[in-house]
Amino acid sequence: MSRPGPRDVVPDDLDAPFWDACLRAEFLVQRCGGCGRAFWPASSCPQHGAASMAWEPASGRGTVHTWTVYHHAYDRDLADEVPYVLAVIELAEGPFFHSDLVGCDPGDVRVGLPVEVVYDTVRPDVVVPRFRPRDAPGEPPTADEGKS
Ligand SMILES: [Zn+2]
Repeated sequence: MSRPGPRDVVPDDLDAPFWDACLRAEFLVQRCGGCGRAFWPASSCPQHGAASMAWEPASGRGTVHTWTVYHHAYDRDLADEVPYVLAVIELAEGPFFHSDLVGCDPGDVRVGLPVEVVYDTVRPDVVVPRFRPRDAPGEPPTADEGKS
């Protein structure tokens, strides 16, 4: 189930570890060593600065905080995908993460819906994390989809 990916995914020095981890089917957040607060995207702690931040594996789980349903394909590569859902996921570790919501009818989305990450290989070198309802049927998350 590979959906067209963003054409301009170009990891920079700050978020390259996150995208590298997606290739291994790992979801990372940054956590402050000073206070333990988790952040995404790559950031610095407002209290302890950037030096105390480190990437660490996260659960890849969260809940829907809010969402919108796209009925019009503003990008023609997504013409076959409408209607589709973009959601703000409140990760179990605390940060908010913007993502596609896949594997469910747009009419079934609700605030607080438990979701989990799935990994979608959109190019051999780019794996995009998307989220699906936690009770959705299907294979376990994998980064191997689309690879041979
Ligand atoms: Zn801190």
